Amino acid sequence: MVMRTARVGLRVSAGQRRRCFGLLVAAGDVWACVLDMNRWRRQRGLPAIVSYQALCRELSAAGPGTFGELDTVGARSVLRRYSDAWFATAKRRKDGEAAARYPRRKRRLMPLRYYHGTFTIERRQLRLPVGRGCAPLWVRLDRAVPYPPAQVRSVTLVAEAGRLFVDVTAEVPIATYPPERQPDPERVAGVDPGVIHPFAVAGPDGEGLLVSGRAIRAETHLHLRDAKDRRRAVARRAPKPGQLGSRRWRKHRARQRKVEGRHRRRVRQAQHEAARQVITWAVARRVGTLTVGDPRGVLALEAGRRHNRRVRDWRIGHLIRCLKDKAEQAGITLTLVDERGTSSTCPACHRRVPKPKNRNFTCIRCGFSGHRDLVGGANIARRGPGGTITTNTNMFPVVIMHRRAGRHLPGAGPSRRDPRRSPHHGTAHGSPGRPWPAPPRVGSRSPTTARISQPTPPQRGKR
Ligand SMILES: [Zn+2]
Repeated sequence: MVMRTARVGLRVSAGQRRRCFGLLVAAGDVWACVLDMNRWRRQRGLPAIVSYQALCRELSAAGPGTFGELDTVGARSVLRRYSDAWFATAKRRKDGEAAARYPRRKRRLMPLRYYHGTFTIERRQLRLPVGRGCAPLWVRLDRAVPYPPAQVRSVTLVAEAGRLFVDVTAEVPIATYPPERQPDPERVAGVDPGVIHPFAVAGPDGEGLLVSGRAIRAETHLHLRDAKDRRRAVARRAPKPGQLGSRRWRKHRARQRKVEGRHRRRVRQAQHEAARQVITWAVARRVGTLTVGDPRGVLALEAGRRHNRRVRDWRIGHLIRCLKDKAEQAGITLTLVDERGTSSTCPACHRRVPKPKNRNFTCIRCGFSGHRDLVGGANIARRGPGGTITTNTNMFPVVIMHRRAGRHLPGAGPSRRDPRRSPHHGTAHGSPGRPWPAPPRVGSRSPTTARISQPTPPQRGKR
């Protein structure tokens, strides 16, 4: 059994939305109370109250009717969160991590977790528990919960960029197979994570898989350009430090958060899809061991602002976590190995060659040539446990399956144009090539308008 969480959006009326946010605000109040209480105690030389049971006793001593519609179950989940965070920090500090901080920041909204038995899910309706005497709170889910109701263990109410979600956590059994379909641990595939190809997999029997991430990269580029344009457009009316922002500014900030949240969701979804494709492919070929190259050791090195941006947008931690979770549930062992030098070593003669500039790897010593990312995958497979046994009988992938991640992204197909992309021909919304969002209206003395409407110089060379 493994625990898995799915995020489901809420469809709420204005009243339900107000009540849900009221609950989250009340949770934030509970959190702030605990922080304040422990600060008060510290100032008087008393030990902080951190254990869940002791905090619950304090809560019941506080009496009823202090936190709006929030009931005891919800308030306790905040206490549990505080206690868990405190002990996690204490453990990290004990292990020598001096930078670990105890919880100290107050938040307006805190997520609320409800455990099994305190909530009800009926088809696409969810009942959240509220305090005694309050009207029952039923909300509609925007999709069916992807787990059988009996397996659901908890729901967590969260707000992100002004939208309400529930994270539904369920206990999911590990997949079982008929004996002839059982993944074989002796069958090893090497996975090379990358930007262009989130996963390049070199498997046994000369088979390979390339998952293309061009749609993800396009989404990242468009988002970056859009964010820059937005920032440039509002830079003049941004409040100075210490100055109170206007309503217009608050609206801009809300919009910005919404766009950021949407971008994050899109990338995460596409990375989940990419990982799913690898696991499906591996299960169909009875691959029982995935050896994944972990590039995170070399990513901390300073490599210029463009490269740093590329590395941050890659979200490699999430990418590997997706694959790990899905592999675990499919009954496939996943091991992480250092990927240093794997894309510049020849898989045929095992000698180092200069790192190829494009996607084609050619060995200058023995004449071997192949796809660069699959070369990385093949070399990674050899580094894992049991890799040496199988690689002798293995050959370099000749049958390559191509898959794409992020098919849902706008602009991935001609039928869904991305509104952030500048149109090549006139649209219903305006003349072609007009910058979007519109540049700020400024007087004739400022050169801003002229600069923005200038055509961009043609790009030289290929990246
Ligand atoms: Zn070679």
